[in-house]
Amino acid sequence: MVIDSTRAFAIRLMEHLVVPTFVLDAERRVVIWNRTCERLTGIPASEILGTRQHWSAFYDEPRYCLADILALGCANELDALYAAHTEPSETGEGLRAENWCTMPHTGKRLYLAIDAGPIYDDEGRLIAVVETLRDMTEQKLAQIALQRLAERDGLTGIANRRRFDDSLELEFLRAQREQRPLSLILADVDFFKRYNDHYGHQEGDACLKQVASALESASFRPTDLVARYGGEEFAILMPYTDEAGATAVAERVVEQVRRLGLAHAASEAASHVTVSLGVVTLLPEEQHSSADLLKAADQALYAAKHAGRDRFVCGAVTETLREPLRRISPADDLCAA
Ligand code: GH3
Ligand code: MG
Ligand code: MG
Repeated sequence: MVIDSTRAFAIRLMEHLVVPTFVLDAERRVVIWNRTCERLTGIPASEILGTRQHWSAFYDEPRYCLADILALGCANELDALYAAHTEPSETGEGLRAENWCTMPHTGKRLYLAIDAGPIYDDEGRLIAVVETLRDMTEQKLAQIALQRLAERDGLTGIANRRRFDDSLELEFLRAQREQRPLSLILADVDFFKRYNDHYGHQEGDACLKQVASALESASFRPTDLVARYGGEEFAILMPYTDEAGATAVAERVVEQVRRLGLAHAASEAASHVTVSLGVVTLLPEEQHSSADLLKAADQALYAAKHAGRDRFVCGAVTETLREPLRRISPADDLCAA
């Protein structure tokens, strides 16, 4: 009698907890689905108690929730099923994870922080798992917005150097892993110091903004990353792109910048603003580092400058760059095209 009333009290307590909570028994059937959990998920306890349908409160497709993973001892599933999680402890204590949930019954996508804790009987047998949920959507969206801001160049609005560096490392590893090519273009505005001297720094800033948008309009794939590499230098990182693809983008960049038609009276390359580009492609079979790719693009860019600017040069990623560099875009050819 005493035990029954204690149990009833414990259940009542859980039902009224302000934290959304549900409890599974050892067979992973829902035995408690508290009031705030009803509110969060839009599913009344009466519909879910005694079932194993708790996943349907959070996801569109059947899958394990954190409490299931704890009950089944399959922590190896965490990576595939959650956006983030802490490492499960050796002693089999609780699990902690975070995830975007579609919340099919409310239709309101939420980012939930989830804890699952085991309950054992006196003999150490698992008798229940308690899962508690915290709605972290606002914090997560704020964090994403901040991150986006931190990765954007203040002047041009495109990705900044930090984002480029991170992406280069990431895409380099992905290219190696998936045995796919990775291409990089480094672009530099020609005689830009003279542009500033002639038109003033503010006009210089406006010019950089326009060049950035010309670069963006020259790369078509959503996987391409157009970034401000520094000063008047830009980079386009192109995953899954071979030399032919990269060359096509480089051609369009040269053309788009010419088309801006920004007068540059002090340039020796043309009467308008132009850019020089270094283009390189890393092939999957080659054994190089991301630093080799950057260095090769920089050397190709240097070659484009020396060949007269307003053009691109394709380089090769080797220890010492292949000589002579192939000059693909003599300014006149492109103008005639
Ligand atoms: P080259 O054709 O060889 O590239 O010559 P350049 O004059 O473009 O190259 P240099 O490196 O001598 O000069 C780059 C100039 O870019 C100098 C610097 O003041 C200017 N610059 C860098 N960042 C900005 C910026 O944010 N705004 C403006 N207005 N100018 C910038
Ligand atoms: Mg420069
Ligand atoms: Mg320059």
